[in-house]
Amino acid sequence: MRLTKFEHLEPKSLVEACAILAEHGDKARIIAGGTDILVRMKQRLVEPQFVVDIKRIDGIAEIKSDGAELRIGALVALSDVQKSAAVREQAPALAEAAAAVGATQLQNMGTIGGNICLETRCWYYNQTYTWRQGREACLKAGGSICYMAKASKRCYALYSGDTAPALLALGARVRLVSASGERTIGLEELFVDDGKKPTILNPGELIAEVIVPVAANGQRSTYLKFRRREAIDFPIVGVAAALGEENGVCSKAAIAVTGVGSAPFVAKDSENALLGKKVSQETIAEAAEAAFKQAKPVSDMEVSPAYRKRLVRVLVKDALTKVAGLA
Ligand SMILES: Cc1cc2nc3c(=O)[nH]c(=O)nc-3n(C[C@H](O)[C@H](O)[C@H](O)COP(=O)(O)OP(=O)(O)OC[C@H]3O[C@@H](n4cnc5c(N)ncnc54)[C@H](O)[C@@H]3O)c2cc1C
Repeated sequence: MRLTKFEHLEPKSLVEACAILAEHGDKARIIAGGTDILVRMKQRLVEPQFVVDIKRIDGIAEIKSDGAELRIGALVALSDVQKSAAVREQAPALAEAAAAVGATQLQNMGTIGGNICLETRCWYYNQTYTWRQGREACLKAGGSICYMAKASKRCYALYSGDTAPALLALGARVRLVSASGERTIGLEELFVDDGKKPTILNPGELIAEVIVPVAANGQRSTYLKFRRREAIDFPIVGVAAALGEENGVCSKAAIAVTGVGSAPFVAKDSENALLGKKVSQETIAEAAEAAFKQAKPVSDMEVSPAYRKRLVRVLVKDALTKVAGLA
C-alpha cells in the first residue's frame, strides 16, 4: 500500500496551524502521531492534498497540574500520559486507558488528541482500496448503504478509542481552537452517535488540550478493556468507572463505555443506581444491569451484539467492584 501524493506542512504555532487548516478546508488533514491516519491514507480512505503535521507546535506537548486540574496538551504521547505521576495519582483511569491502547509502539507515537479523535471503524470500511472495489461503497465511504445494518439510513461504524471513556468518567473538557477563536466544551458534547462523523469538530478546528479535574474526596477510578488479543487490539468493549463515597454512601458515580456504538456513551442509569446509596454487590449489580440495558450494539464481524452487550454488564460490574474495593 502506497501513500498518494500530498504536501506536508509543519506549522510552528496553533495560530499558524489554524490558518493553514482554514485556508485548505476539506483538502487538509491533521496528523499528530500518525498511527491512525497514515493507515487510512494508505488504504485511500482519506486522500488529503495537505497534511498538517502539528508535532512541531510549541506548548501543547506537556502535562501541567495546579492541584485542581490536570491540563494535558493534545500532543502528549500516550506513553507519557501513563507514566505521568500526576495522572496516575489524580486520574488513574486515564493512565490505565493510555496503557491499554494498542501496543507500546503505538503508545509511544500516538497522542492523546489523536486518540480522542480516532475515526470510527468498521470491518467493511477499514479495508484496502482494492478490497473495497468489490462492492458498492458504504455510507462512510460516500455510498448509500451501511453493511452493518443494511436497512439503516445511518452509518454504524464503531468508536473504539480507549482514553475517551476514561476522560468522560473523569468529567474532562477539551479546549478547541480554530481560525475563528477558541471554545472549551465537556467531552460529552464532543461526540455524536454517528459513525460517519463521530465528533462535532468543525473543519479547521483542533483539540489543543484536555482538562481533567483531579480526583476529589477519595474518588477512585479505573479502566477495564476486553479485546481479542491482549498484546495489540482495539477494545471489543472498554469501561471506565469513577466512584466517590462520603459518610458511607456514594457521592459520585461516573461510568462510560467504548466499543459499543458510534460514540462512547455515559451510562447515566448506572450512575443513578448508585448515587446516594451504599455501594454494595447489590447496588453494583443494579448499575451493571442498567448499563446492559442502555447498550445497543449492532451486529459486526467481530462478536455478536448479544455477546458485546453482556460484556458491558460484566465489565461495569468488575470496574465498580474494583474501585469500590470489594474485589
Ligand atoms: C494495529 C493498531 C492497533 C490499534 N489499537 C488501538 C487501541 O487498542 N485503542 C485505541 O484507542 N487506538 C488504537 N489504535 C489507533 C491509534 O494508534 C491510536 O488511537 C492513537 O492514539 C491515535 O493517535 P495519533 O496521534 O497517532 O493520531 P493520528 O493518526 O495522528 O490522528 C488520528 C485522527 O485524529 C485527528 N487528530 C489528531 N490530532 C488531533 C487534534 N489535536 N485535534 C483534532 N484532530 C486531531 C487526525 O486528523 C486523524 O483524523 C490502533 C492502531 C493500530 C494501527
